[in-house]
Amino acid sequence: MSRLYDRVALIGLGLIAGSMALAMKRGGLAGEIVGHARSAETMKVAMERGLCDRVCDTPEEAVADADLVVLAVPVGAMSEIAARIGPHLKPDATVTDVGSVKRAVIDAVAPHIPEGVVFIPGHPLAGTEQSGPSSGFAELFRNRFALLIDEGVPPEPLDRLAQLWKGMGAQVDVMDADHHDLVLAVTSHSPHLIAYTMVGVADDLSRVTDGEVIKYSAAGFRDFTRIAASDPTMWRDVFLNNREATLEILGRFTEELFALQRAIRTGDGDMLHDYFTRTRAIRRGIVEAGQDTGAPDFGRGQ
Ligand code: NAP
Repeated sequence: MSRLYDRVALIGLGLIAGSMALAMKRGGLAGEIVGHARSAETMKVAMERGLCDRVCDTPEEAVADADLVVLAVPVGAMSEIAARIGPHLKPDATVTDVGSVKRAVIDAVAPHIPEGVVFIPGHPLAGTEQSGPSSGFAELFRNRFALLIDEGVPPEPLDRLAQLWKGMGAQVDVMDADHHDLVLAVTSHSPHLIAYTMVGVADDLSRVTDGEVIKYSAAGFRDFTRIAASDPTMWRDVFLNNREATLEILGRFTEELFALQRAIRTGDGDMLHDYFTRTRAIRRGIVEAGQDTGAPDFGRGQ
């Protein structure tokens, strides 16, 4: 695939931006990649790993003359960054983000985007529990979905950004921001909270049973611990910024949990069997859709 943008600015140089940089370089999709992160250490590592052609000390400098600006910082930092870069954007630039929540990011970023600049919110459904400038890899997005939010943007920049994601190995879907937030509350955000909770419970119990919970942890619990190792800042910001949808799903989750609890208490084996049969069919559907290779992975970031 050929070059899609002459200059790309990556604001934030962690797992997602680093993976984008390596995938863009591999595919020859960007002319120059300019980076900025909060700390000098992150920028140093990014240069050592060859993620960027150069780094800038401020986001304002990094976005100068960039054709594509990617905001790849935690959701809670988007507003401040957008306010700073707004006046320095190239008049016909495209700005996108990779935040795990969409409505709150749109509310935080859109007011700072000047006329003529196109803002296309995005979210790659790919990740790991790792973070930082050393964690990215070019294959991260392969066969994963990248979701783009179309709130009335012109077709050409949207198509170009979709081409970029496809060039990095992803499949692209376009959807509405509120729908995105509800879907992700079900598929990613609530499962993460449940994993955090389960590991917290086990940790308390572990003190009682003198380490046995960790020692004999079965695959299910080990998967929970991997998910619960995800970046605390990122996930704090996800929950604070997808409050409504997450609380809606957790409310439903609690009701279902009570129903299962009652079935166990009353010995209603039919109810439990029917329930598990239904959930097993969902799992098969996911595997058939090619969205799982076999290992449990609802904690692949996102
Ligand atoms: P990460 O590895 O923790 O990297 C975050 C980067 O943002 C770091 O380079 C950090 O710089 C920089 N940063 C933080 N605050 C900043 C600020 N105020 N100004 C400038 N730079 C700042 O995070 P990530 O996993 O790549 O996540 C980035 C975004 O992608 C988040 O919005 C997240 O919701 C979204 N996302 C994550 C995943 C996932 O699985 N991880 C998946 C999909 C989408 P320093 O290193 O110098 O602090």
